[in-house]
Amino acid sequence: TFRALLVEKGADGAVSASVQDVPDDRLPDGDVTVAVEHSTLNYKDGLCIAGKGGLVRSYPHVPGIDFAGTVEASADPRYRPGDKVILTGWRVGEMWWGGYATRAKVKGDWLVPLPEALTTRQAMAVGTAGLTAMLAVMALEKAGLSPPKGEVLVTGAAGGVGSVAVAILARLGYRVAAVTGRTETADYLRGLGAETVIDRAELAEPSAKPLESERWAAAVDAVGGDMLMRVLKQVKYDGAVAAIGLAASAAIPSFTVIPFILRGVSLLGIDSVMRPRDERLDAWCRIGTDLPLDKLDHMIAEYGLSDLPALAPAILDGKVRGRPVIDVQR
Ligand code: NAP
Repeated sequence: TFRALLVEKGADGAVSASVQDVPDDRLPDGDVTVAVEHSTLNYKDGLCIAGKGGLVRSYPHVPGIDFAGTVEASADPRYRPGDKVILTGWRVGEMWWGGYATRAKVKGDWLVPLPEALTTRQAMAVGTAGLTAMLAVMALEKAGLSPPKGEVLVTGAAGGVGSVAVAILARLGYRVAAVTGRTETADYLRGLGAETVIDRAELAEPSAKPLESERWAAAVDAVGGDMLMRVLKQVKYDGAVAAIGLAASAAIPSFTVIPFILRGVSLLGIDSVMRPRDERLDAWCRIGTDLPLDKLDHMIAEYGLSDLPALAPAILDGKVRGRPVIDVQR
């Protein structure tokens, strides 16, 4: 057997999550078996544990969209027992049993080797959130961003994606402005390298103006909604915004194309779930060099599997700071 956080649906349709011993023959039909060491908690995990968002189609289910651990058995020639591996995305933890377990069985195509610079604990402090932050920075660089172009804005900054984006950008020499609704996190954000901390209230309301003063060379946006539109209206000529999330809203009621057609601003879509393997390998390599590990360690709060049912509502309410790491043995 292995230990897992099992999410079950009752006859009344209510979803509940508890830690249970599960027989090995219940594992899905993958080609690599991994002894999971660490996982993490993303917004999507909160949805899957709470049975919200329609991400999980069949129950009982083991959530956990990310994990890192050691290969136990492999029918894939690229992996051997003892190899350290990472999995993020590919709808594992949604359509497929995921990382909130001491054992997982997945497709070899979905795994990447653990970079030498990282432990499995640090890799999960990065997780999907950090990989997405790195992909966003890489997309902005591809669009022409460099430190002399000016300040870079990060929204949802005290959250997972935002925290890692702030730390990477600061390490790369950018001046970073961090937007947060939790002013008590200002010292934490400055510690990660933010030069300016901006109160969410300043950007939360839609603006009637088609454009605002040009302030940012680029932005990483985890929030969506009217805040994303405010950011687009404040980006400098030829600048770009990487859209990674929808913590406030998927819809933009105040949407206008004016920043695109009068300032040449670009909106870059960032997906981490289906990213091809070679791009993941590049991004993990960049994480190994561009994410200061002392800052990463500063973002970690460690929990066990049994803490997850209480953590799910906290992340859905935007109350989790930085990067939770789940020690699945605890
Ligand atoms: P998280 O840790 O919960 O961070 C989200 C942050 O957004 C919160 O900490 C909060 O930051 C801010 N926020 C929450 N509600 C808000 C609201 N109503 N208005 C304005 N700001 C609000 O979650 P995460 O893991 O970083 O993920 C962030 C978003 O990115 C989620 O929507 C997630 O689904 C998405 N995501 C997308 C991808 C992808 O592949 N594109 C990958 C990972 C995550 P402050 O407290 O600092 O204000």
